[in-house]
Amino acid sequence: MPSAFITGITGQDGSYLQELLTGKGYEVHGWPSAECDITQPDVLRVALQQSQPDEIYHLAAQTHVGDSAQAEAVTMAVNFQGTKNLLETAQREAPRARILFASSSEIFGRPDEVPQTETTPINPVNPYGESKACATEAVRAARAAGCYAVNGILYNHESPRRGPNFVTQKICRAAAAIARGEQSELKLGDTSAARDWSDARDIIRGMWLALQAEAPGDYIFASGQTHTVQNVIEIAFEAVKLDWRKHVIIDESLFRATEPRQLIGNPSKARAVLGWEAQTTFHELIVEMMETAM
Ligand code: GDP
Repeated sequence: MPSAFITGITGQDGSYLQELLTGKGYEVHGWPSAECDITQPDVLRVALQQSQPDEIYHLAAQTHVGDSAQAEAVTMAVNFQGTKNLLETAQREAPRARILFASSSEIFGRPDEVPQTETTPINPVNPYGESKACATEAVRAARAAGCYAVNGILYNHESPRRGPNFVTQKICRAAAAIARGEQSELKLGDTSAARDWSDARDIIRGMWLALQAEAPGDYIFASGQTHTVQNVIEIAFEAVKLDWRKHVIIDESLFRATEPRQLIGNPSKARAVLGWEAQTTFHELIVEMMETAM
């Protein structure tokens, strides 16, 4: 029976990954998304000694970009030092293990190239992007040193399990609450902001595929298309037959100082090498999130 170790197993991605791997017959071990543990070498050493994983999925991170300006030091410690700690400890305690790191489109920040590929230069514009950029380079260095280490460069991915502060879930929960008569308005920041959104379950399947390839490499997992926050609003309110114009209020205080620009991923390599294809459209995803929110 193959064995896997997942950091951040209680998060959106970790919980879906656990289900996917269990369904494939893996013995799954994992750590909840606690912030400090990953930076503690001793705790990690014991966990890897005990689980002896064939595959390690490093998903634990300080994830919310909007929070990271206030929490720069924590973000760097968890996302960068934590990843270095994991790579070093794994090389000693589980040297055969294949490692996938959940990197992020935010490493590209304001990219020169649209859409981005695995070779687009890294150019982060916020502390979250910086921390993920440093960790991505550490994974590449480990691979150059002979480790089976992979960066899954993940663009935004959502699901009914998405945290309530991310804009898709914020909109779906609010539209559902308005439909039930529990609230009347929804305050949002920049509704023209665009993201390359995918279904989290498609992205998770890509992570698993990435570790089954003969040789390690980096892969972009993205839809290759952007939609705006406004598109999310329209699909969500339409699903409960409400006029969004009567409920959505723009709140300048929710605008971001350093908004990344033109983050669109080109998933051609994942398609060609791994046979990866998204199974859910953006519209289907938001409708499902609305059904769950209701
Ligand atoms: P992330 O910033 O890409 O990790 O994901 P979010 O879901 O938090 O934000 C996606 C986009 O929605 C960003 O461009 C935000 O500026 C925009 N946005 C607009 N209004 C809001 C809001 O009220 N909350 C959040 N979280 N994002 C908003």
